[in-house]
Amino acid sequence: MARILVTNSEGTPGVGQTAEMLARGGGGLDAIEAGIRLVEADTSIRSVGRGGWPNLLGEVELDAAMIDGNSFRSGAVGALKGFLHPISIARAVLERLPHEMLVGEGAARFAREIGAEMADNLIPDSERVWREWFEDKVPAEDRKSWPDVPLTALCQEAIDPEKGMDTTVFLALDSAQEIMAGVSTSGWAWKYPGRLGDSPIVGAGCYADSRFGAAACTGTGEMAIRAGTSRAIVLYMKMGLSLEAAMDEAIDDLRQLKGGLLQRITLHAIDRNGSHRVVAVNAKEQLTYWLWREGEDGPHAEPAELVDL
Ligand code: ASP
Repeated sequence: MARILVTNSEGTPGVGQTAEMLARGGGGLDAIEAGIRLVEADTSIRSVGRGGWPNLLGEVELDAAMIDGNSFRSGAVGALKGFLHPISIARAVLERLPHEMLVGEGAARFAREIGAEMADNLIPDSERVWREWFEDKVPAEDRKSWPDVPLTALCQEAIDPEKGMDTTVFLALDSAQEIMAGVSTSGWAWKYPGRLGDSPIVGAGCYADSRFGAAACTGTGEMAIRAGTSRAIVLYMKMGLSLEAAMDEAIDDLRQLKGGLLQRITLHAIDRNGSHRVVAVNAKEQLTYWLWREGEDGPHAEPAELVDL
């Protein structure tokens, strides 16, 4: 079984590091965490970590998760403010707590407790774009009593496809034949405060089972939550379907969703034989992803398959 790594295009700053660590025989969780940390710290990636888009209140809330496909231990943090590396805090949840997920104040408290690096994740350019939106879209009387105003109507901004969205996802089969997944995101720009997407919800935004494979989603997290997409892909493989057929089933599940937010969602998966597949559902443009396989010098970009529901 050959080692393999799949990341989406947001993984660019970290994919080389992760591939190198896997090539040297490193463990999947270590390699994924190291790669995602580079993405989180890179302010040119506008949907992950520092530089990510803020919520409706102009605050950056970050989500991240890791899952170990051997033990099925996972660690996730959601709506975390003020820390540079949510992926490492998620990993500490996995390794140091009897819990699987922490959110908001509790996640920040835990981050402080383990000495996680703090950061002001709202970079000036994101603040400028948010402020322009605030001046333009928030009625004058609401601006006066801000932030004690109803946000429900403004929340429609969160589904504006022109606004930034994305996540970074890393799936790896390492030299010990163990399969791991990690994801990190700032979620949707202008989201309602406290909104969690699929990324920190293990089974929705990512899943791994070393016996079969791993999957992760980017895009409209609300869809992956409703269909339990990442868990579904791995479970369909367990039920005997090939990677290809398992993803077709998961896409069919997405087709059954009625109402709510139905936009672009991209599915990434690997299996224990070292196969992979990346499908962009409802994408308006060609998307690429990174692939590295054992024996290759480094990662290379590949186009995702495009499917419309
Ligand atoms: N899936 C992420 C979320 O819903 C965002 C994205 O990948 O575009 O928070």
